[in-house]
Amino acid sequence: MPSAILNPYEKVLYKSESLEGNSMYNKENVFYKILKSEIPAKIIYENDVALAFYDIRPLKKIHALIITKNLYSNFDDFAASASPQEVKDFFMTVSKVAEMLGISQTGYRLLSNNGPNSGQEVEHFHMHLLGGEKL
Ligand code: 5GP
Repeated sequence: MPSAILNPYEKVLYKSESLEGNSMYNKENVFYKILKSEIPAKIIYENDVALAFYDIRPLKKIHALIITKNLYSNFDDFAASASPQEVKDFFMTVSKVAEMLGISQTGYRLLSNNGPNSGQEVEHFHMHLLGGEKL
C-alpha cells in the first residue's frame, strides 16, 4: 500500500500556524493567489518548500521570484518561524533555480524587501533573483 505523501515541512515547523500563516499574515496578497493557482504565473520550478516564477515586471534580463510554500509575511517572519531545515531547503532551492536559469556561473543578485521602508509590495516572503546581464 503506497504511503501518504506528506509535506515534510509540516513535521518540522516551529510554529504550526505558519502553514496557515500567523496572525500577521494577510492572505489578501497576489503571491497567496499564485500559490493557490487562483491567478496564473510563469512557473520555473516547484518543490515542497518553494515556488519559483518570473516577475511580471522584470527589472533585469532575468528576474525570477522564489516564494515559500508556507505563509510568511516577510524575511523576518521566515527567519523567526521556519525550521532550520526549511530555511536550508529554501536557499538550496534559490541556488537550484539560478542554476536552472543558467546564471550560476555568470553571477546574480539576490534581494529581499522587508517592511515599509524597503518598498515591499507583496506581503508574502520572497527572494528576487536578478541576472542574465551585468548588474
Ligand atoms: P516586492 O516589492 O514585494 O519585493 O516585490 C514584489 C514583486 O512582485 C515586484 O517585482 C512585482 O513586479 C512582482 N509582482 C507583482 N504582482 C505580480 C503578479 O501578479 N505576478 C508576478 N509574476 N509578479 C508580480
